[in-house]
Amino acid sequence: PATLGVLGGGQLGRMFVHAAQRLGYLTAVLEPDAQSPAGLVSHHHIQTAYDDPAGLAQLAGLCQAITTEFENVPAQALQTLAHTRPVAPGAAVVGIAQNRIEEKAHFTACADVSGVTCAPYAVIETPAHLQAVCTERPDLLPGILKTARLGYDGKGQVRVQTADALAAAWAELGGVACVLEKMLPLTAECSVLVARGWDGQVVVFAPQRNVHVDGILALTHAYEGAVPPPLAARAAAAAVAIAQHLDYVGVLCVEFFVVDDGSAHGGLVVNEMAPRPHNSGHYTLDACSASQFDLQVHAMTGLPLPQPRQHSPAIMLNLLGEVWFDASGQPQEPDWQAVLRLPGTHLHLYGKAQARPGRKMGHLTITGPDVANVKAVARRAAELLNLPGLDFM
Ligand code: ATP
Ligand code: MG
Ligand code: MG
Repeated sequence: PATLGVLGGGQLGRMFVHAAQRLGYLTAVLEPDAQSPAGLVSHHHIQTAYDDPAGLAQLAGLCQAITTEFENVPAQALQTLAHTRPVAPGAAVVGIAQNRIEEKAHFTACADVSGVTCAPYAVIETPAHLQAVCTERPDLLPGILKTARLGYDGKGQVRVQTADALAAAWAELGGVACVLEKMLPLTAECSVLVARGWDGQVVVFAPQRNVHVDGILALTHAYEGAVPPPLAARAAAAAVAIAQHLDYVGVLCVEFFVVDDGSAHGGLVVNEMAPRPHNSGHYTLDACSASQFDLQVHAMTGLPLPQPRQHSPAIMLNLLGEVWFDASGQPQEPDWQAVLRLPGTHLHLYGKAQARPGRKMGHLTITGPDVANVKAVARRAAELLNLPGLDFM
């Protein structure tokens, strides 16, 4: 059988491996960690740094096509692989998605076709930029200062109210390239998964509504009406336009803010994109006829992209490391017996040995015959797992 490769060994890589294996492929994972979620389930595990030339040559030698699961994989590594093998997504688009400055420039460049803009922002790369923003852009405060590169799960971000706080925050982030974004009055957040093939074929999943806690995705609502239909249609069309404008190949997730702009359903603002399957799309494994990982495999290998059909309403609960500790901070295995007795629960664990607060250990998807039923089971599961204060709408 042919082999498919993935750069990165996290849970997204693991679920990619599962999807590839179902189609009869062998897989190769390039990942330095010996005990990674994807490395543990892959036929080949090339255990080396993402930018090791020998490792990349070995990966290219083994694989028919290569993808990535890790946002911050060096774009240069993808470039190197692309000399000899199809790589999807490509180095150029991954490079754009890795840098908020380039990402926002792209969103702005295609705003006419996508119909959405990003939050008002300014680039801060030098002390002179900082000075200029402090004096000339009071409209951006209160705001969020975000490092241009390497931020995820809300890391590399500082919320600032005043010009003085902004200067302190920039120093705290190490004086690296940043963007200052205006803090928007969010009424909701949603995301859209798009898959696009080498031939330009595009399929799109219906937008899902996301709930974040402390900057980390906690909960995804995926059913008709989770995002009001007029907004959902606009978000889906915008995500497709953004993917097309990038000549993107693979699975792309575009995150949106819904802001209160006085209109009936609120306005749509594009936040950021991830050049890979996304945590907010994990429900597709259990609730759709084809998952985001199936589409990743189809897109990279040039297979036709099936239009996924969602057959059940779904809610996904993220299982972070906290769930593995009791109220007094003692390690404790969650009560899976009780959780799995609930109807329509689908437990996914990523095979990570060490639970740490904030670490993504697994997720639980709840499907059911109707939305009321799914919400009721999700609430009960959240209680059993000690996940307080979630917004079940
Ligand atoms: P991810 O893990 O999704 O890649 P990230 O670290 O790249 O996250 P963002 O998506 O930029 O971070 O922001 C994290 C969360 O912070 C958002 O989902 C949103 O809840 C909040 N947030 C970010 N920017 C703004 C803004 N301009 N106005 C209001 N809230 C915001
Ligand atoms: Mg991000
Ligand atoms: Mg985000």
